[in-house]
Amino acid sequence: MKRNITVILLLIILVGLVFWAVKKNQSSSRNIDSNNLQVVASFYPLYFFASSIGGDKAEVSNIVPAGAEPHDYEPTSGDLVNMENSQLIILNGGGLESWQDNVQKNINPQKTKIVVAGAGLTTGQVTEDSHMGIDPHVWLDPLLAEKMVDTIAQGFGQVDPANKNYYVANADILKNQLAKLDAQYRQDLKSCAKKDIITSHSAFAYLAAEYGLRQVSIAGMTPDAEPSPAQLAAVTKFAKDNNVRYIFFESLVSPKLAETISREVGAQTLVLDPLEGLSGESAAQGKSYITIMQANLTNLKTALQCQ
Ligand SMILES: [Zn+2]
Repeated sequence: MKRNITVILLLIILVGLVFWAVKKNQSSSRNIDSNNLQVVASFYPLYFFASSIGGDKAEVSNIVPAGAEPHDYEPTSGDLVNMENSQLIILNGGGLESWQDNVQKNINPQKTKIVVAGAGLTTGQVTEDSHMGIDPHVWLDPLLAEKMVDTIAQGFGQVDPANKNYYVANADILKNQLAKLDAQYRQDLKSCAKKDIITSHSAFAYLAAEYGLRQVSIAGMTPDAEPSPAQLAAVTKFAKDNNVRYIFFESLVSPKLAETISREVGAQTLVLDPLEGLSGESAAQGKSYITIMQANLTNLKTALQCQ
């Protein structure tokens, strides 16, 4: 009799525990589904800006996978479903997302807002294969990045007006970090022996214009564009003529061309990261847009012999 009661009591406790666990699970998934804003960013810098602004009130996902770069990326069917189910999509614009028109056509504007963070900022042009193209790399200039943050925060406030002040406050914290970054760049690049940077692809024109540098790129507008032998010869000649000591390469692209040129001119290589993606390894090490921009500055100071 006593044993039966113990078994019944244990059963009651067990059933109670199962109910509690199921209920807890349901309520936490409900939190994600209904309370948090679903946001999709097209690539890493926008993901970083949106995550900082959204804080704990948004679930932000990044379309371009870790370690990939956005220029040639095509969204998968899973990415499209993810975008359709979101309330906010954040794009760079300026031609970075070759699929922008397609998404704009297929997204229901009643359900999902699309924000183009670089709208009005992508004013630079670059010659590519003898035709002029728009330069999309605005996120690499901290002052333009501040404007992108404002545009993104506005989008958050429009789709979730109840938390508008929260998003504005987070955007202010981020803009403050970007302003500090700008001040650091301005100060550290003020007195340098050189101003020429030879980059892997032409991602740094806005940054160069902001801080008085001159960019020459080995490849063109995208990292995968193969430079012609004549282009390579011209870059090599430029490096020799201007006594360039360091050739920059990117973390997501093979350093082969940079190494070939540096061997020919007797230079060394250094990383200048265009932040078009963050590798899983870098993310695990706690690296971010801000820390990589600081690392870029350190390498610029070395290459340009700044005091
Ligand atoms: Zn690029």
